[in-house]
Amino acid sequence: MKVLFVSSEAHPLVKTGGLGDVAGALPRSLQAEGVDVRLLLPAYRHVLQQVESTKPLFSMGDLLGTGEVWLLQGYHPQVTVPIWLVDCPALFDRPGGPYQDEEGSDWADNGIRFSLFARAAALLGISGALTGWRPDVLHLNDWQSGFVPLWLKHWGAERPATLFTVHNLQYQGVFPKTLLSEVGLPEHFYSMHGVEYHQQVSMLKAGLYYADQLSTVSPTYANEIQSTEMGEGLDGLLADRSEQLNGVLNGIDTAVWNPQQDESIAKKYSLETLSSRAINKEQLQTTLGVSVNDEAPLFGLVSRLVPQKGVDLLLTVIPEILQRGAQLVVLGSGDSALEQWLLHLQQQWPQQVGVWIGYNEPLAHAMMAGSDVILVPSRFEPCGLTQMYALRYGALPLVRRTGGLADTVDQQSGFLFDDVSSESLAVVLHEAVDSYSDRKLWKQKQQYAMKQALGWERSAKHYIEIYQSLMQVEE
Ligand code: ADP
Repeated sequence: MKVLFVSSEAHPLVKTGGLGDVAGALPRSLQAEGVDVRLLLPAYRHVLQQVESTKPLFSMGDLLGTGEVWLLQGYHPQVTVPIWLVDCPALFDRPGGPYQDEEGSDWADNGIRFSLFARAAALLGISGALTGWRPDVLHLNDWQSGFVPLWLKHWGAERPATLFTVHNLQYQGVFPKTLLSEVGLPEHFYSMHGVEYHQQVSMLKAGLYYADQLSTVSPTYANEIQSTEMGEGLDGLLADRSEQLNGVLNGIDTAVWNPQQDESIAKKYSLETLSSRAINKEQLQTTLGVSVNDEAPLFGLVSRLVPQKGVDLLLTVIPEILQRGAQLVVLGSGDSALEQWLLHLQQQWPQQVGVWIGYNEPLAHAMMAGSDVILVPSRFEPCGLTQMYALRYGALPLVRRTGGLADTVDQQSGFLFDDVSSESLAVVLHEAVDSYSDRKLWKQKQQYAMKQALGWERSAKHYIEIYQSLMQVEE
């Protein structure tokens, strides 16, 4: 079975969030299950700098009038699946992130950039003769590859099956309707029964409308997004396609996130040597500048600071638990008002609050190894990875019961609250502080948490079942 895994990011080459983690780990697990999988990414400057070397495979021509496009093969010691890169220097070889410039503004030509990326992916789907490798399935991810099934529909040629996975329904790839004519797609796709979305064009909707099968990254989120409250205006379409909508829970990379082998933490530990965790807590307290004290329950937050993550719900209630002697350490960046609030809190409570604004992968590992509780109070959470890392490291997750959080955390492994409100959050924060004083019970919870099966094997098998069902339809 041949699968082209199409993604706009993949760890360790380029990552801005959960999609990067998934695209870094899932293809390798599919490969381990015998799937012949290749990873397709845009050749961003950052990626070209990360790979050890590249080899030009062939020219795809000037696909959208933005210069000649080449397919490159890339090599990276940690990536076991073949890496294919869509090289169009005018669109991808620039400083900044995959979607935004260095100031954090979206690239003005994102519509063109990801129309081209999608067109290249679609071409690779139908033109096995060029590569000598024709995929059976195109596995597409998020709005950046949403136009792939649209190009395929437009050409009408014999084509591979398509699976479109939504990692976050809130990011929709919305552009002016003129995009269609700019990239050479016919106007008739601009329809409610097509890519039209509030008088604009949505790449996410294109994927949801035209792909053969759909999936999202947890069973609960798959249900939630069919509701008006959480469907982002696409609930009708999703409900219509519920027969094709699968909920496949993400896994985590258990080699990268393993407290027994983690080079980023002060002291490695396992279920059997949980007491060594105290050294990591001590180190984390020192790094974040709070007082070193094992008696203080240490609450950690590793998050993008955006409304989705519910960090604002903490504003009014965190002081309540600080008064009870708890500590808070934060690693994150995003919304400047939230950043300012956190820094202000740190000033007010210098012994008990430590804040690191920025992105820091090794520190994220140290946070999992040293925190007693990891906070994930999300308004919505398609799957969420941080709570799974927390479980694996014996940091008890405190989460809102939504999406993948509801599918991965229970009362035995962590703490849950239901309502999007500071009051409901306060109840479980206090519960966690209370529980911490019973250290025997706490340890039992940690051990239960650390025993959860979180690897990718089960999910990889589930995806393979979907691929197989698609191929049967095709035959
Ligand atoms: P999302 O993709 O919505 O941001 P996830 O929980 O699915 O949320 O994935 C977040 C990923 O990003 C995790 O790997 C988490 O550790 C990481 N992360 C978030 N913020 C930071 C940060 N400031 N520094 C390092 N890693 C971070």
